[in-house]
Amino acid sequence: MMKKYFLSLCCIAAISGCGNTILSSSGSTDDTAVLSTNADICLGNGITIDYRFDNARVDDCVIYDSRVTLTITPENQPINNSPWYAFKVSSEAKRDIDVVINYVGGDHRYSPKKSVDGKYWQPLTFKSTKKQLRFSVTASPTPLFIAGQELVTNQAYDTWMHSHKQSPDVVVSSLGTSTKGRNIGMMEITQPNNKEWLVVLGRMHPPEVTGALALFPFVDNMLSNKGREFRQRFNILVIPNVNPDGVADGNWRHNAKGVDLNRDWKAFKQVESRLIRDKLNAIVADGGKIVFALDFHSTHKDVFYTMPSDYGLNPPLLVEHWLAQLAAEMPQFKVRQQPGTSPNKGVFKQYIADTFNVHAITYEMGDNTNRAVINEVAINANDTLMMQLLDTPANKFYGQ
Ligand SMILES: [Zn+2]
Repeated sequence: MMKKYFLSLCCIAAISGCGNTILSSSGSTDDTAVLSTNADICLGNGITIDYRFDNARVDDCVIYDSRVTLTITPENQPINNSPWYAFKVSSEAKRDIDVVINYVGGDHRYSPKKSVDGKYWQPLTFKSTKKQLRFSVTASPTPLFIAGQELVTNQAYDTWMHSHKQSPDVVVSSLGTSTKGRNIGMMEITQPNNKEWLVVLGRMHPPEVTGALALFPFVDNMLSNKGREFRQRFNILVIPNVNPDGVADGNWRHNAKGVDLNRDWKAFKQVESRLIRDKLNAIVADGGKIVFALDFHSTHKDVFYTMPSDYGLNPPLLVEHWLAQLAAEMPQFKVRQQPGTSPNKGVFKQYIADTFNVHAITYEMGDNTNRAVINEVAINANDTLMMQLLDTPANKFYGQ
């Protein structure tokens, strides 16, 4: 969770905390004691800030009276504004704690949430400026999770994929290992005579949790009885967690090498994107045809980044028809389609389009979109996509 060079920062924090103790004229020494025992935990005044878990991130911590001041810094720069934080707070005695989070290297993005079990989350009331977040929590001996979004950990992906193992024709396996040697899991749902493949990716960008919250129901729906006819014609490749190192380390955006994976689909310098490229090439070498791909992300609004219908992809109007159908199914939800190209930038959807001559989209859910809406949109998006693909004769994916 922590990189070694943050150790020195943490030591400085502990010293400055001690300095506060000496200089303090109002509080007793006991009230202002600060002890930082290692880089993944921060202790003081009976308060514990613990960031020794998958997806946690705190880069510096000072406890002073009942105030906890945390600093969040990015894995490397330049980087976009996605300061990610996650930690557990507890206190020997039940007490209210003021939390101040200072962002270095990026502006505020994620609203704080709390959870006792790491599964059910509640929003916290907060105040924020570009560089600072403030809120209060009641801490007790039972640790409370605090995070910028719900925690969707590497373990959660494994659990989810294995829950589908009992489904017919689902094979869960390892695509390979990440930069730091973590498993990159995949699900393949196949029938022996199927040639056409749908590809689903997620979590290139670790904090983009609402994308994950969309991917799960999208795929679940396809693997339910509703997807039976679809699965009789189409194979499905799901790689839900492309950047497990970034997820484990609580990175703002990059992989363990400090690279944005959604800018590597041209250079292929990163093992994570290379593994997927090689897998898709193996599918094609085996006589398969990639017909469509989705890549799940989050941003400040719900938007589908698509390839233009006049880009020469097969069939040209597939996405137009699909999203029109989704809009018809969900009149209360605004389906924003933003067609565009990003040549030479190394974006996944562009790579799919240029390599396989078929459409691909970046499926973006808003950071703050209601979670029930994310779920409902995903199910309807999947229903309508399955219909649209089933309505497309196989030769149309080849431009015939
Ligand atoms: Zn993203």
